[in-house]
Amino acid sequence: MQAGNVDGEATRSDDEPREKCGVVGVSLSDRDAARPVYYALYALQHRGQDSAGIVTHDGFQQHDHVEMGLVGDAFDEGDLAELAGSTGIGHVRYPTAGSVDKSCAQPFSVSFNSGSLGLSHNGNLVNAAGLRDELARLGHAFTSDGDTEVIAHSLARNLLDADLSSAVEQTMRRLHGSYSLTVMYDDRVLGVRDPRGNRPLVLGELDDGYVLASESAAVDVLDGELVRDVRPGEAIVLDADGQGYESVRLFDLETTAHCFFEHVYFARPDSVIDGTLVYEARRELGRALWRESGIDTDVVMPVPDSGRAFASGYADAASETGADVEFAEGLMKNRYVGRTFIMPTQDERERAVRLKLNPIRSTVEGRTVTLIDDSIVRGTTSTQLVELLRDAGAESVHVRIGAPAIVAPCYFGIDMATREELIAADRTTEEIRETVGADSLSYLSVDAVADALDETRDDLCLGCVTGEYPYDVDGEATDRDVSRPTVGEPAEADD
Ligand code: AMP
Repeated sequence: MQAGNVDGEATRSDDEPREKCGVVGVSLSDRDAARPVYYALYALQHRGQDSAGIVTHDGFQQHDHVEMGLVGDAFDEGDLAELAGSTGIGHVRYPTAGSVDKSCAQPFSVSFNSGSLGLSHNGNLVNAAGLRDELARLGHAFTSDGDTEVIAHSLARNLLDADLSSAVEQTMRRLHGSYSLTVMYDDRVLGVRDPRGNRPLVLGELDDGYVLASESAAVDVLDGELVRDVRPGEAIVLDADGQGYESVRLFDLETTAHCFFEHVYFARPDSVIDGTLVYEARRELGRALWRESGIDTDVVMPVPDSGRAFASGYADAASETGADVEFAEGLMKNRYVGRTFIMPTQDERERAVRLKLNPIRSTVEGRTVTLIDDSIVRGTTSTQLVELLRDAGAESVHVRIGAPAIVAPCYFGIDMATREELIAADRTTEEIRETVGADSLSYLSVDAVADALDETRDDLCLGCVTGEYPYDVDGEATDRDVSRPTVGEPAEADD
């Protein structure tokens, strides 16, 4: 373990642009890509509600439309009609608590001597500041604070005197941190996943082309077949006519750093990530939770919707051991209230939990209750819900969480909270139980997470629950050798 020592730009403030997003890339043989990209973005809306954008190429020129807001609000029929061309990329961007403006919205597009470039990014670089300074000294002018523009300029520079895969290789050699990208270079689309594969990216096949997307649910909505995950350190270049693709494995490191929190919270339950269906992973985590800290109560209920799969796995495992446990919905969710997480003040966050969830009295009144959720971040939700359930007549309220305590911030793409805001950053589980007001509280162990995801700890990014990161973040500890990976010989196309 060692402290990170590179120009870590990843310190957080509320008004800093952060890239927590969904990305898409599509190449088709004989129809416009805009509409499939639009549908795919709809499927990825949960990954970002702040802005949405599409860039297409019609063989002669690039077209783009990027707007603030939800996918459904960002495009109308006319916008889609103007996005001509059978190749395209898209992006949805996560909301942040601080100021947000269009300069950070994506895809980022840039024209330069040898062509036009569009870029969608999910993840976060830790050496963006150094790269930006270097490129600025070489005459590159930047229009936003985001690290995506740094990647775009770096790639554009390398494309001046190299072919596409060499330019991608040279760019990846300089990038450090987490990135899943879809890139549009003239009319060609490619997908790139960072050497440790922190954020997801999949390849899917359509009747008349190929799609790259953050999650397989986006392939499903296009009636496509999931081909496979893009491998860590791999670039997949789609043929411009939608007929095939080329795979170039630029890095092949010994360990990966898949984000476990994608499985726990962020990704859709119907997506398959790194070979595992997220819903099943969550049920497995729920089963493990019962094995580690199951408690006999009258009823097991989820915090909707985030705790549902966990609670169902937990209740299943309980009944398998003969426990007489009822699984029931005890909280009704108002689906029109946005994520409580994005409320800027604590007061508003508390109000939002109350607006969002209301108890179903018949499940709760006079009964002992186990409340199951995926995670506790600031503690607002659990504190409010325990009080709500007691007010609704619960005799006792036990809280079980399907992930370990979140003790440190995420620097790589999940908008969590600052260290000061995290309830578990400086409290023991018993202190958190007291703050939350529960009769008992248990988290899942880190080892159980690795087991449930069928991974070793070394192949996961567990930074937010261990405080040790798989990339060198300034001022933070690491859990592995984070010296820069060297670029190997490009591998043959492997399928
Ligand atoms: P908190 O109320 O701050 O403890 O947040 C915990 C609740 O927020 C849980 O119900 C989680 O499902 C949900 N949650 C966890 N992580 C995030 C995130 N990154 N963005 C939005 N909500 C989250």
